[in-house]
Amino acid sequence: MITIETLVFNHWQENTYILYDETGEAVLIDCGVFFKEEGKRLIDFLELKKIKLVKQLNTHLHIDHVLGNQFAKDQFNLLTQAHKDDEFLLAEAPNYGLRLGLENVVEPPALGKLIKDGDVITFGNAELKVLHIPGHSPGHVVFYNEAQKFVIAGDVLFRESIGRTDLPYGNYEQLLEGIKNKLLVLDDDVDVYPGHGPATTIGHERSNNLFLKGLS
Ligand SMILES: [Zn+2]
Repeated sequence: MITIETLVFNHWQENTYILYDETGEAVLIDCGVFFKEEGKRLIDFLELKKIKLVKQLNTHLHIDHVLGNQFAKDQFNLLTQAHKDDEFLLAEAPNYGLRLGLENVVEPPALGKLIKDGDVITFGNAELKVLHIPGHSPGHVVFYNEAQKFVIAGDVLFRESIGRTDLPYGNYEQLLEGIKNKLLVLDDDVDVYPGHGPATTIGHERSNNLFLKGLS
């Protein structure tokens, strides 16, 4: 049985997820730690639950989702796993930070392992299937757990909204196509945990998300 913990970090109120199961193994997804206090909150949580991070993953490599990758490398000796089509974004992080008024953003560490559509990532007794859904960023992936019916969706799908596609390398049609073919084919009771804001379900988005009207 997987437990999902959400920690909200940095200027962008980014959802950092910790998934763990009864074996005590855990994965860290989209580590957004920026302030010192946020790093302490993450470490305190792991200690409280007596769990050990065995993998670091990223849905995509926009700045708000990678701010804590260096922290995770230093603290847990983990390099993140992400899709190769987003790898170029790492080098852009410091400049992007400057444009947004953050002066002390350093380039995040290199990727540890590349992941692609269809891969299965394991920890403890759990499995996460990688679904590549570009459009918000070229290498955006989501992590789907079939047994417990949930998706860690990053910035693909939010409660009653979708990821922005006006950033460089965004593509609105591609994003909608991916949501239609890879997410709306899932059951209504699949939980969706987005990169920002509250969790939702596939069914709620199918009925209430205006961006998805006419898609299914
Ligand atoms: Zn993003």
